[in-house]
Amino acid sequence: MVWGGILRKSRDTMRVLITGGAGFIGSHLANQLHRRGHYVRVLDDLSSGDPARLLPGINFNRGDVRDIPKLWSLLQGVEVVYHLAARVSVPASVLYPREYNDVNVGGTVSLLEACRDVGSIRRVILASSATVYGDHEVQPVAESMGIRPAVPYAVSKVAAEHYLFAIGQLSGFETVALRIFNAYGPGQPLPPAHPPVIPQFMHQILGRGSVVIFGDGTQTRDFVYIDDVVEALISAAQAPHVDRQIINVGSGEEISINQLVEVISEITGAQANVLYNREGSGGIARLVADVSKARQLLKYRPRTGLRQGLRRLLEEDPLFRPGHRPAPRPLVDPGQSS
Ligand code: NAD
Repeated sequence: MVWGGILRKSRDTMRVLITGGAGFIGSHLANQLHRRGHYVRVLDDLSSGDPARLLPGINFNRGDVRDIPKLWSLLQGVEVVYHLAARVSVPASVLYPREYNDVNVGGTVSLLEACRDVGSIRRVILASSATVYGDHEVQPVAESMGIRPAVPYAVSKVAAEHYLFAIGQLSGFETVALRIFNAYGPGQPLPPAHPPVIPQFMHQILGRGSVVIFGDGTQTRDFVYIDDVVEALISAAQAPHVDRQIINVGSGEEISINQLVEVISEITGAQANVLYNREGSGGIARLVADVSKARQLLKYRPRTGLRQGLRRLLEEDPLFRPGHRPAPRPLVDPGQSS
């Protein structure tokens, strides 16, 4: 078998395309697959990604996931596709639902159509999101529970899941949707608008700025370390009996926003100055993953607890290394990450 003129190393070596592969999760996935000897191609429009995160030897291509001729050419020789390219901010999706529909739904349909056309694809894995669950009194949430998508970002992920399963079945390739909870780790971007909660809090606390919590801080989330997400994604390409399955990928640990601030203070050794904005919504009250299905189907074992993950973030992310003194930044709504 050849891949761009290169002989395949072994039967277990996968030839992979990752859309959104220059992003936070995508670049960790691409680098880990590359380290393990798989052939990796990346497609990313660099709207938020950065190809400098990718190891040398990974084939990077700049382009839009809705560009079907480009996909036809990049899918040549590929067996496994990871679809991560998306707009990822919940609050931005409320402001720009059409854009979220165009990229997250339109991009998924374009990719699936191109996969159908090339015919060599064995499996497509979608990065879906825990936001599709919405508000549930009963926690942890299992895949069998109903979905209550309450924001355009979540709706776009529900539509993507349905297209994935329908077009996969009609076209003869396998499909898996991973509902990822709040991923964090080194290299997570900290955009000025709508930053994710962990790097934002870390940045504020280290810079001696104020941390603003919307609501009373008792709302809970499931923070999952990037290495655990990557392991689940890799297993999703290799495990048997996962066709048309939806699988939660979280830590299974329920952490309140108040606890998160305490742990970050403890680990950084810096006192957090917390302000509560009780007029703003803290988002849904509770969200934590039941990971039994991932354990069973993917042999998934989340290995990095919150304390350890935050310590690694502090040590490994250049943004938080000693000597780099973060300046205080604008406020964040902790209920609002993808
Ligand atoms: P990210 O923004 O770092 O990665 C998304 C990547 O997609 C970026 O590199 C961006 O440049 C690229 N992209 C966006 N639009 C594109 C387009 N039209 N064509 C090609 N590339 C495009 O975000 P992330 O946190 O790495 O998320 C990756 C995936 O995982 C997304 O699908 C996201 O919805 C999903 N997800 C993430 C989390 C999380 O906690 N980070 C949780 C649930 C689901």
